[in-house]
Amino acid sequence: MDEDTIEKYREAGRIAKEAREKGLDLLEPGVAFTKIVETVEGHIREEGAKPAFPVNISVDDVAAHYTPSIHDDATLGEDDVVNIDVGVQVDGYIGDTAATVDLSAEHDELVKASEEALQNALDIIEPGLNVGRIGEVIQDTIEGYGFKPIRNLSGHGVEQYVQHAGNSIPNIVTDTEETLKAGQAIAIEPFATTGAGEVKNGKEGNIYRLENDRVRGRMERKVLGEIKNEFRTLPFAARWITGIPRPRVETTVSKLVRAGNLHAYDVLKDKEGGMVSQAEHTVLVLDDPIVTTR
Ligand code: MN
Ligand code: MN
Repeated sequence: MDEDTIEKYREAGRIAKEAREKGLDLLEPGVAFTKIVETVEGHIREEGAKPAFPVNISVDDVAAHYTPSIHDDATLGEDDVVNIDVGVQVDGYIGDTAATVDLSAEHDELVKASEEALQNALDIIEPGLNVGRIGEVIQDTIEGYGFKPIRNLSGHGVEQYVQHAGNSIPNIVTDTEETLKAGQAIAIEPFATTGAGEVKNGKEGNIYRLENDRVRGRMERKVLGEIKNEFRTLPFAARWITGIPRPRVETTVSKLVRAGNLHAYDVLKDKEGGMVSQAEHTVLVLDDPIVTTR
């Protein structure tokens, strides 16, 4: 990994951290989801970077993949356990980070469990480490608190313009030959839950990704052109599309999903409806590892 690349990862990480903290400061009962995403994504753009994906806001049993739609009027409730997951790209180099706030004051330990699991995992990162060891440390830490790690969600490599690249970084004990390579960038993201420890798909969560760009229809072509230029293959939200009149954005996006041009992500929820917390940082695997989002 050359100095220039490291510098871009550091820059993306710094902005992601600031944006995450701005978002966390807003989390209180009654605040609108749209206000959270506008503030967080606004900060990223003000800093001259771009979101690598729409800010994910996950409440209670939701683990990931929900972002407000254009006309979303959802607000946070009094007892919500809410996690925000923020991604920033600088020339395609990504910082990916998440944290959870418990507004109920009844799930402090659940929040601590994922944070401590993340810290313990970061402490052992070095080139050559078997990735199964990361899962083991995460599982041990979360189970030590009496909760379950979510087994079918994992951390991942990141590469330029690729949000999920290379090996997955398990959140449970895993028998694998895979090791960390010097010069790799990875995101580590333990999820802790009071529920099943396994997520299932829910309804669509307003997050999309380009699948193929062969399309008919003027509006559809225009939107797809914008998506290719602005987001490439990174996930995006309909509220980011500016090239056609606003009232037509969501119907056009729906058409593109039905035609197979766009993939629509489903919300992921704990199978038993347990509360979920998540903590995440991006780290450059070097002899002296760099946690870019801390
Ligand atoms: Mn993330
Ligand atoms: Mn991630």
